[in-house]
Amino acid sequence: MTQSKPLLPGGPSVNGQQVTLGVMGGGQLGRMFVQAAQAMGYFTVVLDPDPASPAGLISHHHIKTAYDDEQGLAQLVQRCDAITTEFENVPAAALATLAKQRVVAPSADCVAVAQDRAKEKSHFEQCASLSGVAPAPHAIITTDAALAAVPAGLLPGILKTTRMGYDGKGQVRVSTREELAAAWDALDKVPCVLEKMLKLRAECSVIVARGADGQVVCFPVQKNTHHDGILALTEVFEGAMDATLAQRAQASTVAIANHLRYVGVLCVEYFVVENPDGALDLVVNEMAPRPHNSGHYTQNACDLSQFEAQVRALAGLPLPTPRQHSPATMVNLLGDLWFEPNATRAQASRQPVSPPWGAVLALPGTHLHLYGKLSARPARKMGHLNITGDSVAQVRGTTAQVLALLGLPALEA
Ligand code: ADP
Ligand code: MG
Repeated sequence: MTQSKPLLPGGPSVNGQQVTLGVMGGGQLGRMFVQAAQAMGYFTVVLDPDPASPAGLISHHHIKTAYDDEQGLAQLVQRCDAITTEFENVPAAALATLAKQRVVAPSADCVAVAQDRAKEKSHFEQCASLSGVAPAPHAIITTDAALAAVPAGLLPGILKTTRMGYDGKGQVRVSTREELAAAWDALDKVPCVLEKMLKLRAECSVIVARGADGQVVCFPVQKNTHHDGILALTEVFEGAMDATLAQRAQASTVAIANHLRYVGVLCVEYFVVENPDGALDLVVNEMAPRPHNSGHYTQNACDLSQFEAQVRALAGLPLPTPRQHSPATMVNLLGDLWFEPNATRAQASRQPVSPPWGAVLALPGTHLHLYGKLSARPARKMGHLNITGDSVAQVRGTTAQVLALLGLPALEA
């Protein structure tokens, strides 16, 4: 269904009360969507089977069924005026069902592309002719014949399952044909993409918000540092990224969103690589049909957060160009911080501890966001800390102090 008029907060709702926005998934991204929607005066509904889901805990309503449960989806339709998603693995068929009766953004078709690395790569290739930014050299592996036909130039490479991968899961690094065959076997021969292993000079991402009317606005480009395949740090300030590359990344992201006729918030990840001639270049990696961990700094450093943009795009409200008012970093707070430091991630041998929030929050410009998860596990995303200041030097200085207090690796020079 398409929306003709904006859904203004406090306005009449299909449920007989006030305009209500729904979200499929109750993780931290759903929680921050709910917080942004509620701040603007909307009622909210979360669908997530987990009774303790971070978003379910704070939403006006929480439907605790599976994502493809007919009754759960019917309840969502009854209660909501428009529905979004907070994770890409929501069944596209469920979104298509909801879309018959309600505004759903992003659409099932867009989510289906983001769910499947093979479809995503082919979409990026189509956009490359417009944007000049192509995906990494790769091959799709679905049969033994395709495996045998893999060009030698793709090795060493990374074998990635086409579906359900996140935070480095579902990925195996392979150097030889033998390792490749063994890795595909170990993944039960599910459809995979083999990507050439690139030498990354940096990683970055771009968030755009696009309305149903085709208007698209771009957030500043984030520079991202990953540890063990999980985002650790995002830096967004002048000088963090090469300005020409940043502009190209933004233009490419806008092209990708337009080509999909995307509605909502979209994040696209890029690699910065060095060409044989020594010049820096961009490679498009993957996209997320939702706000993204690397965009959390927008909550405290911009006059529009990625979650407010998600609410506005869904409700058909205006999308002004976001303005970053402070240089910023974002430090991810993984469950490891809730255990005594140890050489391995083996939880059994680690004693629980409370992270030093008092000392962290004594530093000016620190903004703590914890997701209300009831138990910490190593590598589990428990929260993030945004750090703002009035100069790059100040933000970097505070970030260095925070990293030291938390026992995390120091900033690169
Ligand atoms: P996920 O869905 O787990 O985020 P990604 O494809 O983004 O999967 O891979 C996770 C991380 O692994 C990337 O952020 C990057 O650091 C590294 N990586 C992925 N693909 C490549 C590649 N082709 N060459 C080099 N590093 C890569
Ligand atoms: Mg990624």
